[in-house]
Amino acid sequence: MGKVLIIGAGGVAGVAVHKCAQNSDVFSEICIASRNRDKCDALKAQVEGKTSAKITTAQVDATDVPALIALIEQERPDVVLNLALPYHDLPIMDACLATKVHYVDTANYEPEDTAKFEYSWQWAYRDRYEQAGITALLGSGFDPGVTGVFSAYALKHYFDEIHYIDILDCNGGDHGYPFATNFNPEINIREVSARGRYWENGQWIETEPMEIKRVYNFDQVGEKDMYLLYHEELESLAQNIPGLKRIRFFMTFGESYLRHLQCLENVGMTSIEPIQFEGKEIIPLQFLKAVLPDPASLGPRTKGKTNIGCIFQGIKDGEAKSLYIYNVCDHEECYREVGSQAVSYTTGVPAMIGTMLVMQGLWRRPGVFNVEEFDPDPFMDALNKWGLPWQIDENPKLVD
Ligand code: NDP
Repeated sequence: MGKVLIIGAGGVAGVAVHKCAQNSDVFSEICIASRNRDKCDALKAQVEGKTSAKITTAQVDATDVPALIALIEQERPDVVLNLALPYHDLPIMDACLATKVHYVDTANYEPEDTAKFEYSWQWAYRDRYEQAGITALLGSGFDPGVTGVFSAYALKHYFDEIHYIDILDCNGGDHGYPFATNFNPEINIREVSARGRYWENGQWIETEPMEIKRVYNFDQVGEKDMYLLYHEELESLAQNIPGLKRIRFFMTFGESYLRHLQCLENVGMTSIEPIQFEGKEIIPLQFLKAVLPDPASLGPRTKGKTNIGCIFQGIKDGEAKSLYIYNVCDHEECYREVGSQAVSYTTGVPAMIGTMLVMQGLWRRPGVFNVEEFDPDPFMDALNKWGLPWQIDENPKLVD
């Protein structure tokens, strides 16, 4: 029994609050804090009374370290779950360090003024977290998150050595809009408009954005175009899976999404360079976010399924072997259960699970860790229990 302080009240936080509340044997108290307290109160109203968890709310600016420290001191949570934006990782980690409270997030730090994300900034806290005797668990969403747990599980139970990993993220959902993003548009567009990158034989190989395309037939979704992207778990898995020769990440995109994105890029709407507009400085991408559908509003409209997983190739007992571990998640079922679509669901559930394992002490070690550095078994069991059951294919079609 313990208390979690959840920072952020957007799409992912909405699911995490529902899931923590469902798991009230572990999360007996939940405090939701975000920039707009109204959103926290609305979330509380949706969940309260359905479980025995006690839910409170607060207002906080996640860029303001003294305010975060004051909130943590007032609430005294066992763990802080950061579900605000990647820009807030470092201030929240600072506040956890000052108050000696465990920290969990789902996305690595990204400075607001450069579209660049990498773990170096957060890994730089390792010594300080170790000395403070607290745990930071980084990237406990689906990807990063479950993809790292799948990798650790495959290595523990199926392989002596893993040589190749392809992470395949397929969203076969349809929300009926010509263009919308399934999670925070600013973060999503920064990610997909960046140059592609994968890791091979100890080196990073860069591609043009969307340069490498493959077609894959996904279980329960069907055939989709997918494109090679850089994704943050490539960085930690390349370090944490011994013997790895190559790791790539592919995400599916529909034609309409790509056509709109290209047009928006061509006219400058995806830029993060400030411009003057009617006497005021604005950032085009932030303005674009304001006119696009709120990802939280996609829930009731989205039909179809996601299929996200990893294809592993390696060696077991001297023999070549391949294995695919994946989860299929249905947008409409997620909406019926927690009022959100599957992209928020597949992130919010593992965020709850990682926080639970830290809270229970099963995944607790002083320092800063990525999910694949802990024992995958309790996480894999919890995925089956809490709504993201996984499947194994021992004879998968490989990606060339
Ligand atoms: P949303 O935009 O829906 O929610 C973000 C929340 O952060 C909002 O409640 C927002 O408040 C709040 N916020 C923004 N700025 C501040 C601030 N200065 N102080 C306090 N709160 C603030 O995003 P999502 O829920 O879609 O995503 C949440 C996180 O999950 C992101 O970091 C995203 O990168 C990550 N993610 C990870 C995935 C994974 O698989 N690992 C997949 C999808 C997302 P307000 O309402 O006032 O704007």
